[in-house]
Amino acid sequence: MAKKVKADASRQPFQYPLKREFREPDWTRLPGYKGVTKEQWESALWQRQHSAKNLKDLKDVFGPFLTDDIAEDILRDQNEKATMSLLIPPQMLNTMNEKDLRADPVRRYMIPMFSDRHKEWPNHPKASRDSLHESEMWASEGLTHRYPTKVLAEMIATCPQYCGHCTRMDLVGNSVPQVTKHKFESQPKDRYAAMLDYLRKTPSVRDVVVSGGDIANVPIAQLEAFLMELMDIPNIKDIRLATKGLQGLPQHFLQDDVLKALERISKRAWDRGIDIAVHTHVNHAQQVTPLVGKAVRKLLEMGFRDVRNQGVLLRGVNTTRQDLLELCFMLLDHAKIMPYYFYMADMIPNSEHWRLSIAEGQKLQHDIMGYLPGFATPRVTVDVPYVGKRWIHQLADYDRVKGISYWTKGYRTGIEADDEDALTRRYEYLDPVYTLPPEGQAYWKKESEAVAR
Ligand code: SF4
Repeated sequence: MAKKVKADASRQPFQYPLKREFREPDWTRLPGYKGVTKEQWESALWQRQHSAKNLKDLKDVFGPFLTDDIAEDILRDQNEKATMSLLIPPQMLNTMNEKDLRADPVRRYMIPMFSDRHKEWPNHPKASRDSLHESEMWASEGLTHRYPTKVLAEMIATCPQYCGHCTRMDLVGNSVPQVTKHKFESQPKDRYAAMLDYLRKTPSVRDVVVSGGDIANVPIAQLEAFLMELMDIPNIKDIRLATKGLQGLPQHFLQDDVLKALERISKRAWDRGIDIAVHTHVNHAQQVTPLVGKAVRKLLEMGFRDVRNQGVLLRGVNTTRQDLLELCFMLLDHAKIMPYYFYMADMIPNSEHWRLSIAEGQKLQHDIMGYLPGFATPRVTVDVPYVGKRWIHQLADYDRVKGISYWTKGYRTGIEADDEDALTRRYEYLDPVYTLPPEGQAYWKKESEAVAR
């Protein structure tokens, strides 16, 4: 008699295989792209020239799908709340559901509406521009030295697309009614030279995140020259190129001159024993399309060590088990992108409606465990001011009433050389006030009244 088999994998809270298809949505369904050819669509120049920069451009693309009430809602947000200006390539607009723009997850983070923001608590009382205090830790202009062995090099303050929740809203993009952006003071050539100079003099740094803004906006010859010099520095062993453009404008990475330069960069890295990888930022499964996959394959074929995703957890966009696992499997199965991090959104102004509490982040980490291979299970990560990245379960203490979590660290940031307490101090991260019980909300109401006085 055959042994009775007990395993039954059919009943799970998340179902695999996915029902979602891996395909490029047909752009000609959108009124603004009716006559657009494949050749135009796949041209980076055409994409950049046709990126939406204002409400009129959005109306031209979506036609009657962008109803008057939605248009008014977007305009009001731009005038009263937005911290980033509008800039969205057609590739990214094409991943939105034109039939339900109000609920669409990509729209919800790329084109915020006034009605999306939290009415009572649009801001945490302690929210701030440059909430991670990166510019305080600049070793030279744009070079943040926060961790012992790694630095962040901000090459440029622009991107091919501007995300509503951008952490670097202080510096990145054009000024908007609510935010006058800071500007780099020195010219790119001098800034890059100063960064390289610092790295030559600082052998304790082995790992450089080359970011912005977005490296897709750095002219490729400049990027190549910088990276070649960087790879001549003997202490540099790891380089990560940060670009959301890989998803928002994959056409950029499929241009001949860009591919040739990236190939030379990858070869030099291999010859020098340096690991070079690309880090991207995809927040929803519907943004993972074949053009993105094609650009990733080119990078992997030419020897990039990996392409990894650092998404951001945004309420109403991707904060359910279904959303996160679907995104991870789309990345892994189809685009060959490694799910790596999901960041908690940072405490910048007007971002409260997107942010989660630590408890919510912990639950999401719990809910996604066990479905993906261990090496592709992303960590939910908090960027704690003056600390850096911590895994969501690493907190030292948590006051659930006031929504204050306490974090510690085992190293000094670049500005704490003489700080005796840096390694024993407890650093705070704050939950959105509206997620707290009434007594916690009352506490913050009093605090914000005290600040206002
Ligand atoms: S691509 Fe990155 S740096 Fe640029 S706006 Fe988006 S989040 Fe900010």
